[in-house]
Amino acid sequence: MPSSVKILKIVGAGRSGSTIISNIIGQIPGAFAVGELQYLWMPGYLEQILCACGQTVTQCAVWSAIFKQAFGDVAGVDRERLHALYLQNTRGLSGMSAILRSTARKPQPLLDYLAYLERFYTAIAAVTGCHLIIDEAKHPTYSVMLDMIPGLQCYTLHLVRDARAVVYSMQRKTLTRTTQGQVSFMINSAGRTSRDWIVSNVLAEWLGRMERAPRLFMRYEDFARHPEALTRQLLGFIEEPADLCPVHGHAVDISDSHIFASNPVRFARGNVEIRLDDDWQRELKARDKALTTALTLPLLWRYHYPVRAQHK
Ligand SMILES: [Zn+2]
Repeated sequence: MPSSVKILKIVGAGRSGSTIISNIIGQIPGAFAVGELQYLWMPGYLEQILCACGQTVTQCAVWSAIFKQAFGDVAGVDRERLHALYLQNTRGLSGMSAILRSTARKPQPLLDYLAYLERFYTAIAAVTGCHLIIDEAKHPTYSVMLDMIPGLQCYTLHLVRDARAVVYSMQRKTLTRTTQGQVSFMINSAGRTSRDWIVSNVLAEWLGRMERAPRLFMRYEDFARHPEALTRQLLGFIEEPADLCPVHGHAVDISDSHIFASNPVRFARGNVEIRLDDDWQRELKARDKALTTALTLPLLWRYHYPVRAQHK
């Protein structure tokens, strides 16, 4: 196992471009992008959700070796308990109050979950031989928990995308491949997506203040406009050589990847072009655009997004 395990944690709202950034950083030598491991033990996920290599995580040779290293036999893992621990520690005020307590007063379910996370991430580094793990959980409470593990050297990327682009993305029928074939997932209303976007970003900022990890703020739109420059900036932030940058201009070669869950873009292979998708400016319904803008206005200003759409 590498002597020191670095974790690049991506926090913020869903559909903010975290999967493509994970995939890009995962291409450098010694890096392994894991996707959204917090969902691993959800009912049916081991059997149905495909790893980026096209197999379930229990069929995938890399994940099978990691499970074996971490748990001996994955069939013997108490999946219900691990999923319950995730929910208990990340949902609602009780989860948040638990992580805010001093070390001596941390409740046992949180200590149990931290021990599980340490065991799992240590096994990932040991089996892959990688010193850098890219985690796109995005959940602010989960991010703080990773930061609490002494053996992990964490770096936090707070990634933000315009709320109206996120609303538009959430309304599109997105298909992902599972063992059941193609299924669509996550279609939410503008109001609900706006609420989740606000909560995710406010908590990412607020809880992030208690982390020891250095932090970098990035807007996805800036990344998509200048992918090579911002990948180099990101590599510098995580103390990796900028000349390892796999992006040249707007193009990146994506080869092997074992990202679990996350956006279907994880299946992209070969030469991938990174361009800003601003279809929402023309396609998002006027009513949803107005509602989202009104609900998220303080944060849109804070993140320097224009209030009015800017047609090309
Ligand atoms: Zn795989």
